[in-house]
Amino acid sequence: MKSLQELTRPNIWNLKPYSSARDEYSGAEASVFLDANENPYNHPNNRYPDPLQHELKSIIASVKKVRTEEIFLGNGSDEAIDLVFRAFCRPGVDNVVAIDPTYGMYQVCADVNDVEYRKVLLDKDFQFKAADLLAASDEHTKLIFLCSPNNPTGNTLNRKEIYSLLSDFQGIVVLDEAYIDFANQPSFLEELSEHPNLIVLHTFSKAWGCAAIRLGMAFASPQIIQILNKIKYPYNVNRLTQHEAILMSQKHYEVQRWVKSLLEERKRLIDEFSALDCCLHIYPTEANFFLAKVTDAKQIYEYLVQQGIIVRNRTHIALCHNCLRITIGTRPENDALLEALKQFHPSQAL
Ligand SMILES: *Cc1c(COP(=O)(O)O)cnc(C)c1O
Repeated sequence: MKSLQELTRPNIWNLKPYSSARDEYSGAEASVFLDANENPYNHPNNRYPDPLQHELKSIIASVKKVRTEEIFLGNGSDEAIDLVFRAFCRPGVDNVVAIDPTYGMYQVCADVNDVEYRKVLLDKDFQFKAADLLAASDEHTKLIFLCSPNNPTGNTLNRKEIYSLLSDFQGIVVLDEAYIDFANQPSFLEELSEHPNLIVLHTFSKAWGCAAIRLGMAFASPQIIQILNKIKYPYNVNRLTQHEAILMSQKHYEVQRWVKSLLEERKRLIDEFSALDCCLHIYPTEANFFLAKVTDAKQIYEYLVQQGIIVRNRTHIALCHNCLRITIGTRPENDALLEALKQFHPSQAL
């Protein structure tokens, strides 16, 4: 890995961050706060929230078994994705490399930040070779994006290839593990301290059942986390979100129950879905969704919309011709999907 100073944009490395009232005073004993031009009425929403989310981070640290200095919290993982572009990639100069197909936000953030986005096609099993990603990179490649379990394919990426990328790439590897709670293998978080060039992304939006509160997590070395903290909006995670996430983290057992029943439903739904006339293939999945190749993705998608059931048509994505991405719902929701598809006849829908 190059030094963090070489990887960081010079203006960011030299940036003196905005210092908020709550940054300058963070002791607990004071009871009279006349420093932030807040309204003294309307407790508790009158006060600015903790800019560095100390209480929430200490709970997340114990759930995820990392140190608080290794945690960045943002307005969804999407904020963390955008910030890594802004921290490391000089617009019009630097580039990033990513597997293809994968989560669409990496490319959107690259485009917004005017950073060249280089895609490397996965193989027919949706796997990558570290050597291919390295071959696509050059001295201006700051980041490589991986997603495991991958969206929209559902599979986890080969661990050996991830290790060789981590040891051979000179820049930073961003590993998006939004679906790791549904996978059969451990998170790379366990090995965070061994890889100074690794950023792992987790989210409250999937297994944690909290997409509405917008809370994403990035885990990395304290040096990388400090850079992200320096450029984020001062109060990027609002009080309501911090509060709800604290309540949620305290009932972690609930999340484990949800995951267990979703995994059972995944197995049942896949078994029954594969028996449908319209199903040609179901790809292996370790997420809370599966990718299915069907006889005619567009026609089936539109038929399901008429029945009030929305799935994701991925037919225009690389390697996903005629594929639908289907999220695992509750048992009645999954049954509604199966029933509708049993009634689907291609001729009738034309
Ligand atoms: C859903 C998803 C996320 C979550 O994004 P949030 O902004 O945290 O809601 C991140 N990465 C991938 C690959 C996803 O599919």
